[in-house]
Amino acid sequence: MTHWRHAEATDIGLVRQSNQDAVYVDDSLAIVADGMGGHAAGEVASEMTIEMLRSGFVENETVEGLYNAINAANITVLNDARENPNHFGMGTTVIALGLTVDNEGVTSPTICHVGDSRAYQLRDGALRQLTEDHSVAEEWVRMGRLTPEEAAVHPRRHQLTRGIGVEDTIAVDVMSVQALAGDRLLLCSDGLSNELDSDTLARLSSAPFTLEEAVVQLVDAAKEAGGRDNITAVLVEFDEVSVASSPIKRTISSTTPPVARAATPAATKRRKRRRLSWRTPAALLIFIGVFVGAYFIVHWYAYSTYYLGNDAGTVAVFQGQPGGILWFKPIMVHDTKYQVSALPSTVQNQLTQTIPEPTRAAALYATTHLCSPATSCNSTSASTTTTSTTTTLKKG
Ligand code: MN
Repeated sequence: MTHWRHAEATDIGLVRQSNQDAVYVDDSLAIVADGMGGHAAGEVASEMTIEMLRSGFVENETVEGLYNAINAANITVLNDARENPNHFGMGTTVIALGLTVDNEGVTSPTICHVGDSRAYQLRDGALRQLTEDHSVAEEWVRMGRLTPEEAAVHPRRHQLTRGIGVEDTIAVDVMSVQALAGDRLLLCSDGLSNELDSDTLARLSSAPFTLEEAVVQLVDAAKEAGGRDNITAVLVEFDEVSVASSPIKRTISSTTPPVARAATPAATKRRKRRRLSWRTPAALLIFIGVFVGAYFIVHWYAYSTYYLGNDAGTVAVFQGQPGGILWFKPIMVHDTKYQVSALPSTVQNQLTQTIPEPTRAAALYATTHLCSPATSCNSTSASTTTTSTTTTLKKG
């Protein structure tokens, strides 16, 4: 079981013409709503939201019931603003603390909130903020664009990123509260938290002050500090408290989050571009690699073989394919000085057709057998032996 005692106070403050804050607390539900909008429409939105939460939570005292009530309040406020021109643009924050029953029958405190009204937990005089503000400046703090000190004075600290009555869909922060008997929870509108620092909030909210004393002096202190907005404070103190059998802390959205396939065109383009940024050099390297590889394969093939041929009337050894491959022309690697005209006509014909040899050694060996003992090669330098000239051979 969980049981609390409670007290609340709300005040118009010193500057505003009306109090657009609304507050409600009973034995199982505490709500603060900070309305906004002209022509007193802010009051309508905050009161309407509290009524929707009260009736919704009475019907269904689960986390889901509380969340559904906030969703219903959002739709109700939106529809009312659409039907009533005086209510155009109205909206409200909401922070609700409910004693919710889970499926194991455990009753424990749960917070649901949208906007910049806050919940704090007090234990032994120390204060801890439980909620994150849904304001532009605070979102920027979470993104690392602002420090908390910069956000506290930033012009956009009051501009909400989420609120009741703003859009058809809504994202609600839902969290279980881990409390001990004797802990207090403070719910408040920004008219309190903007005027008082956390040390003052902690001191004025805690024992020895009773709950009733505490809420009154919190409001009075905020007025003394300027009272520039409506001020609302709710305090509950747990006599006994249970912990939810499966505590939660998450943002529940009434829209289905987009899946990767449904990414926006801009996001898709960005992703594509990023991929290109590392793929382009890789593709270039592969292209160059293939090109260089092909060059060497053709080069190797073009010069992988030898043949004997007629080099301006003398027998010569060539490296390469007869006629050449692409721009790789055969290279004369050895000239025997043997006169082709001195060879038998059959050998002359073979030389004209070229005589292929697989290796340089084989080609050189073949030249020494062109002139059989029966054949007079009649070479001017017949005495030049292959072995003696080999040492002077030059490629190309
Ligand atoms: Mn306010």
